[in-house]
Amino acid sequence: MNRRKFVGACCCCAFTCAGLAFLNKNPKILNEENEFLMHHVGVHIAEHCNLSCKYCCHFSCIAEKEFYDLDKFKQDMDKMSSVLDKKLVELQLLGGEPLLNPQINEYTKYSRECFPKTRINIITNATLLDNMDKTFWETLNENEINIVPSLYPIKINWSSILDKAEKYNVGIYGYYDCKEKLTLSNIDRFQKPFFYKMKLDKNTNDNIDKSKCYMRPKCTNMYNGKLYPCTIIAYIRHFNKKFNKDFYLTENDYLDLYKVKNISEVEKFLKTTQFPFCKYCIPDNEKVMWENSKEHLIDEWT
Ligand code: SF4
Ligand code: SF4
Repeated sequence: MNRRKFVGACCCCAFTCAGLAFLNKNPKILNEENEFLMHHVGVHIAEHCNLSCKYCCHFSCIAEKEFYDLDKFKQDMDKMSSVLDKKLVELQLLGGEPLLNPQINEYTKYSRECFPKTRINIITNATLLDNMDKTFWETLNENEINIVPSLYPIKINWSSILDKAEKYNVGIYGYYDCKEKLTLSNIDRFQKPFFYKMKLDKNTNDNIDKSKCYMRPKCTNMYNGKLYPCTIIAYIRHFNKKFNKDFYLTENDYLDLYKVKNISEVEKFLKTTQFPFCKYCIPDNEKVMWENSKEHLIDEWT
């Protein structure tokens, strides 16, 4: 498996139109030999974020400071690697803002140990990239880990960052498939000026059309040893805590990797079209312009 050549999966924060259209037609979960191959998994190594984007579908803008405990991360990555027999196309280390994690080098190194042939991308808002030290860049280089920035319309010193990436031979790409390196001249093309808003409503019912859901099966996230079908389900606890709500999960909303008996359970989970939690969700894909906000009101998600 060539770690740099597989087709990209979903993103952490915002989609481009082209990306959405492509992914909707290509939810690949088989390899060339027609065997099950996990397409991608996102893993938050920081729940919180240093940006405060409205409508964040990870709820990171309202999450309290929290890092994935490193020992637990290692245990869970071992488990996921063993359950998937290391057959994972893309691993995304993200958040929140993953560069806020002071031990990021340990997470990246261990990820590579668990998934030697997987394309590993750090998904970052890029605000901290220019201040990262030499060891960070060297670790990425030694472990062949890429950077895929979420290019929001904010001021970033790309000239300096791209120079560092070149100096340390680290790939910075415009999209998750890592096919096109970011340059000063193509950055505009990859910018993400809008989000897709998801609406949560306790009074919705099973008749809502879930076929418009842009997250499933392309936003699978792993946290605390469990696979979740989307970031809404994976990180709803931040929303519940912030707004004192009770959008709780059932055990059918996720797959506990420690209870998986064989790989076909993962395949079945990824093919599931609707989860119990989906009854609260209205995925009408309303486009909203990106906005950094100081105050977050519940109507961003309802
Ligand atoms: S950069 Fe914005 S959208 Fe991405 S995790 Fe942070 S708050 Fe959410
Ligand atoms: S809760 Fe269900 S419908 Fe909503 S984003 Fe997640 S998978 Fe899609």
